[in-house]
Amino acid sequence: MTAKQLDKEQLVNDLETKDISLYINGEFIDAESGKRFENLNPFTNEVINHVAEGDKADINKAVDAAKRAFKGPWGKMKAADRLELIGKIADVIDEHVDEIALLESYDTGLPLSQTKKMAGRAAKNFRFYAEMVASRMVGEAYQVDDEFINYTIHKPLGVAGLITPWNAPFMLETWKIAPALATGNTVVLKPAEWSPLTASKLAELIDSVGLPEGVFNVVHGFGETAGASLVAHKDVKLISFTGETKTGSEINKNGADTLKRVSMELGGKSPIIVFEDADFERALDACTWGIFSFNGERCTANSRLFLQENIYEEFVEALKERVDNIIVGDPMDESTEVGPLIHTTHFNHVKRYLEIAKEEGATLYSGEVPREFEQGNFVAPTIILNVTNDKTVAQEEVFGPVLTVMKFKDEDEVIELANDVIYGLAGYVWTKDIQRAHRVAQAVDSGMLWINSQNVRDLRIPFGGSKSSGIGREGGHYAFDFYTETQVIHVALKDHHIPQFGKKKD
Ligand code: NAD
Repeated sequence: MTAKQLDKEQLVNDLETKDISLYINGEFIDAESGKRFENLNPFTNEVINHVAEGDKADINKAVDAAKRAFKGPWGKMKAADRLELIGKIADVIDEHVDEIALLESYDTGLPLSQTKKMAGRAAKNFRFYAEMVASRMVGEAYQVDDEFINYTIHKPLGVAGLITPWNAPFMLETWKIAPALATGNTVVLKPAEWSPLTASKLAELIDSVGLPEGVFNVVHGFGETAGASLVAHKDVKLISFTGETKTGSEINKNGADTLKRVSMELGGKSPIIVFEDADFERALDACTWGIFSFNGERCTANSRLFLQENIYEEFVEALKERVDNIIVGDPMDESTEVGPLIHTTHFNHVKRYLEIAKEEGATLYSGEVPREFEQGNFVAPTIILNVTNDKTVAQEEVFGPVLTVMKFKDEDEVIELANDVIYGLAGYVWTKDIQRAHRVAQAVDSGMLWINSQNVRDLRIPFGGSKSSGIGREGGHYAFDFYTETQVIHVALKDHHIPQFGKKKD
């Protein structure tokens, strides 16, 4: 299906005249409180439009609607009909890929060439889970002697609460929505407050497909109010969360009273290890792309580079050349490689880390931000040298285009350094020695590790982190298991002995 051709200017003008509503029970509505908050353009820091500010009252309304839909039309719908609707969501996303990418870039500052790829992948999520559920809504049967047969079935849990971040909003939202709906749950989505545009577009697209009212709901608003109310709600059976580690910990605590099932995709500080025998140019490409794509606002970014000492000088020189030549600019321009950071608050957070690095004795080498872009939240691509792994900037998640570069002698030392951090999301190893590649890969504490590769992922493969980077896995059948309950049915094939308590003896 061909994507619609769009006029960027027209799209932007339309946004300015269109505020963003909540989507509850099949209707686009204001928040109960009538409050709205500003949505800012990270490239200009001007107001794009205003967003309905949902809070506890709106979450309650959305959860009630989702619960009714679960008990009613959605729960009663034949799986084949439900999955056909999921496939239609994929189709409408495909038809609007260009528009979604433009909205995402305008809202978040992520470069257009990168948001286009993510929007396309979002449609694939829906198709993938429609197909997977069709083939996987099957149980197991256990024959026990000739007396019993026990079998399992997988059932949806009910209302799923999905809480998402701003760094790849559309893709991360659909990553959760697709398996949640395909397995038969209903959804209340609380998108990040700094990136509401594509979640709102998704509500429009899903609305056009004709899902029963209340199956999919979007409540915009802040984490401490809307997000916290969703987590605490007794009728929300699970929370799938992607965001910062400290927020994940807060959600885990707040969900404990209602024993929420949780999936946590959290922060990272992922190492990339380059041995002296690595393919130099490919490792350089991967390292540069892995930290500077998505403006460095990427959970799996390789933010700690470990270089074997013999190649350190040459690699650093090559990195400096790349940093000098990265195209920093308007995210809506297809040639831009690094755009502005999402928000001034986050911009100040990243800038503060650069100050701390200097205070702690490191040396910074940065690219340029063209003068005409000074009004935006731009941080120039930066590498940090003369730094050790115990320093703040090597330990904490900066979440910007900032790479710390360190040296190592041998395999044992680099494994120790790579693991000396609270996070364990991703890792990358570059070497031509196949035995060493596997040894090091298995020794790094991370949920995911790429050998001589960068972040390529099939939808069937588990995604998630160890240590403070998460609980559980998304993707493939891991998501299927998370969004379903397994029930065992025990069937007696013969009358078997049951003790007769309280029965009068003859
Ligand atoms: P964040 O934790 O600040 O916010 C994420 C979401 O949680 C937002 O919707 C926010 O409103 C909500 N929230 C905040 N406080 C809440 C509370 N008390 N209760 C309920 N909800 C609450 O994260 P962010 O700044 O939006 O995103 C960046 C972070 O996300 C980074 O740490 C990044 O590494 C992480 N991330 C992880 C993955 C992964 O798959 N592991 C993917 C993308 C991003």
